Amino acid sequence: MICIWYNYYNNYNRYNGYTNFVLMKKQRALIIIKPDAVQRGLSGTITKRFENVGLTIIGLKFQKADSATVIAHYPSTDIWFEKVGQRTLKNCAAKGVDPKVIFKTDDAISIGKQVKQWLITYFQESPVFIMAVEGYECIEIIRKLSGNTIPVLAAPGTIRGDFSYDSIDLANEAMRPLRNAIHASDAIEDGEKEVALWFKPEELFSYERADEKIMFP
Ligand code: GDP
Repeated sequence: MICIWYNYYNNYNRYNGYTNFVLMKKQRALIIIKPDAVQRGLSGTITKRFENVGLTIIGLKFQKADSATVIAHYPSTDIWFEKVGQRTLKNCAAKGVDPKVIFKTDDAISIGKQVKQWLITYFQESPVFIMAVEGYECIEIIRKLSGNTIPVLAAPGTIRGDFSYDSIDLANEAMRPLRNAIHASDAIEDGEKEVALWFKPEELFSYERADEKIMFP
């Protein structure tokens, strides 16, 4: 009986252009257009990419980041420091460069901690353009549009590939983070956490884009 009712209800909604997904849930994610892209006037161009793919912008603001928020934004866990440090160590190994020349250590966690310090300064170089987006498969989509963390390796057509060609060698030698145009949440839980960190509930909006009826009938 429940099954018959469910099918009837679902077909009714489909006919009227609404799908009642049971398993698929919309995800939320945070995009930050970083100071290098803001200062080059790329905020509108980059925002357009997320609008074009069909994601809904549910929050938008332009502000100077304070250091406490940046510190809370990037994890202070050994797992995250290790991930970031290993990126540098892998690059050093491939190039035959000694990480101690710049970082005075070859310990991945210590290197990750230094990069986080650089990020705190970098995020305050200019205002940042902060966007909360929502949609099905949102995290997967924004990471795909963003491209590889290291711009010189990011595929053409991705935001990082199209708007930067920074490399780990250039960034580390100048003792700054990779200038890779944007931050994009990279896990479902991170998306929720980061949106809640940067936006108050009353700064977020809920509405349906017109194209959802056509794309997800
Ligand atoms: P993301 O999620 O793709 O932004 O990458 P991560 O969370 O791993 O790193 C955060 C940010 O730190 C990156 O976007 C870069 O700006 C910077 N970064 C990461 N790894 C390195 C590195 O090895 N060297 C330098 N200089 N910057 C890095």
